[in-house]
Amino acid sequence: MQQFPDAPTGKGPAERFTGDVYVDMVVPGGEQGFSVGRVHFTPGAHTAWHSHAAGQVLHCTEGLGLVVTADAVILLRPGSTVWTPPDVRHWHGALPDHLMSHLAMSGVVELAEARDAVTWQEHVSDDDYATAAAAAQEA
Ligand code: MN
Repeated sequence: MQQFPDAPTGKGPAERFTGDVYVDMVVPGGEQGFSVGRVHFTPGAHTAWHSHAAGQVLHCTEGLGLVVTADAVILLRPGSTVWTPPDVRHWHGALPDHLMSHLAMSGVVELAEARDAVTWQEHVSDDDYATAAAAAQEA
């Protein structure tokens, strides 16, 4: 067996995230076939649009947030679990006035790859963020 080393908390890079986001890798992508990250979003912080080649399960552990696709918005609260299928464009993050933490569990497409395969796209516009956050809180 193998114990993964304690990795330092990483800062989500500005080209992939809006606002302050911190990531602790729990399981680095590797021969086990999936990766797990514990991701902490400060209020209002969120990812850019992106998709995962092998899909992704998000499990909210703290706070309030949302997951958004082209045609759906789901509110994340502690205990919420959401599956986004392979190659479905989406973004996720905290509500404007709440912290949010989730576990992000992503399949590894090719075992030889060190990380899950994410295709990063454009940032979420301020208008789209505000609209989705309002819809999440009405649902
Ligand atoms: Mn995702």
